[in-house]
Amino acid sequence: MKKKIVIIGGGLAGSLLCNELVKNHNVTLLEIGGRNSLQFPKIHFINKRLAEVNTFCFGGGGTTNLWHNGLIPIRGEDIINSEFREVLADARSFMDQTASALFFGKKSYTAEHQELVAKVNLLSHTFTSFPHGIDCLLYPKKFKSLTVSNAVEGIYDVENIEFKCDETGVKTVNYTVNGQKRFTDCDIVIISAGTMGTPKILQKLITAKGATFEKLGVGFIDHPMGFVGKVKFKKEVSSAIKKFTSCDQGDYVSQNAVRIKSVCGNYTACAYFRPALTMDNSLAVYKYKSALGASNGMARFKNIFSLKLFHPDIVAEIFAHLFGVTLPSRTYNILFIAEQKRGLNRVYYDGDQLMVDWAISPEEIKMYRGMLKSLKKMLINLAEEININTEINEDWLWSQAHHSCTTPLGDSENDLVDKDLKLKFLDNVFVCDGSVVQEHSYANTGLTIGQLAFRLAERINNAC
Ligand SMILES: Cc1cc2nc3c(=O)[nH]c(=O)nc-3n(C[C@H](O)[C@H](O)[C@H](O)COP(=O)(O)OP(=O)(O)OC[C@H]3O[C@@H](n4cnc5c(N)ncnc54)[C@H](O)[C@@H]3O)c2cc1C
Repeated sequence: MKKKIVIIGGGLAGSLLCNELVKNHNVTLLEIGGRNSLQFPKIHFINKRLAEVNTFCFGGGGTTNLWHNGLIPIRGEDIINSEFREVLADARSFMDQTASALFFGKKSYTAEHQELVAKVNLLSHTFTSFPHGIDCLLYPKKFKSLTVSNAVEGIYDVENIEFKCDETGVKTVNYTVNGQKRFTDCDIVIISAGTMGTPKILQKLITAKGATFEKLGVGFIDHPMGFVGKVKFKKEVSSAIKKFTSCDQGDYVSQNAVRIKSVCGNYTACAYFRPALTMDNSLAVYKYKSALGASNGMARFKNIFSLKLFHPDIVAEIFAHLFGVTLPSRTYNILFIAEQKRGLNRVYYDGDQLMVDWAISPEEIKMYRGMLKSLKKMLINLAEEININTEINEDWLWSQAHHSCTTPLGDSENDLVDKDLKLKFLDNVFVCDGSVVQEHSYANTGLTIGQLAFRLAERINNAC
């Protein structure tokens, strides 16, 4: 039977859910941003800034307006939280469908990824043996931001969302558009307002039920990432290393990484190798390089007016990125992607002000230093010269924009959603976006968020 479904937030998860559920139901999208315009909400940082550039945005398509569409699965073997590992395993069967909705042109992403990992692993065995293997991040060459089907009733510039509930669920969603009060009756509500936006909506529901939940937004994690050094490979391995770092596969390119485990085995990081021309290990140049890569529009234009643009490593990056030409060099930047696990980092709202309390703890820094020492050991026999800062501090790391884990998921009473992504205290409300990703090793989260969206859509379709 057709249900009335309200989806709050039309970003990566929300767009995929809208397009899938509208095939069988009446779907209304409530989006805080404009249909075709982007807003960058002001953030008050209590602790460390996430990055110098915007790491998410509001508007139709959400953060897919900024992203690079790199697709990589989160491996179950890297996940400690058994409940989330179960959810991930269950969502695995949706990987191909998700990749296809995210512009991956080949028939099976799963098969393609597996074959490529095997091929690159084999190639790496010709020059060394990486103890924890390698992984491949696949970038479709053609992609665009996500949009929702015309069959969805898309309502944009929505403010002041409030809920009318009875004992079991939400009956009506009230909101304002251009100063006008409106409402939509519903059978099902899905909150997909992103890792930063969802806590605010959940707070409204908790208040509407007269409940309290002190840990809302607590546990926020990201991937701390940074360029941590340089390596110049020996002549005899340089051609194999060049093939190893990146593969052009026709309609997609893969960037390949060395996996690194912490001594305790619970944390997994990885290192990518980006073309460079010098052995300089300058934090200022790295920060500039990152800002140039992650910014767009006016921000990128402003970044261009810097003398750092002429640094040989930046020239190498521009050639590689914009023209797909890798300058002949045996020297590479090492891009380290680290893992965080849920702790005390937190996202919350003071009135309408978004507050982000993000830090990289001294224990994490200590662990990352250990992992960088392991990486150095792995590379030492391959390198003619190596210049890694194994004593990094938090200045060397910033957000990779993979915000996650502000909605606790699991079986305990401290968790807000169950393994079906259903809110525990209401029968017809689900949460699906980056906020329910509980752990993410070093893996970009977009593919997983999409898998969770298709899994939820199938469950709703089967239940109705
Ligand atoms: C520069 C950059 C590059 C990236 N590259 C990659 C990559 O290569 N691979 C990858 O996997 N990931 C990448 N990411 C991360 C990826 O884009 C995000 O993880 C993903 O978009 C998150 O999806 P989401 O659905 O959780 O949130 P979003 O896509 O952010 O969507 C949330 C939506 O909710 C709306 N919203 C928020 N609050 C409200 C409210 N109160 N009411 C109504 N609507 C609301 C927002 O406007 C937005 O549309 C990148 C990010 C950035 C910034």
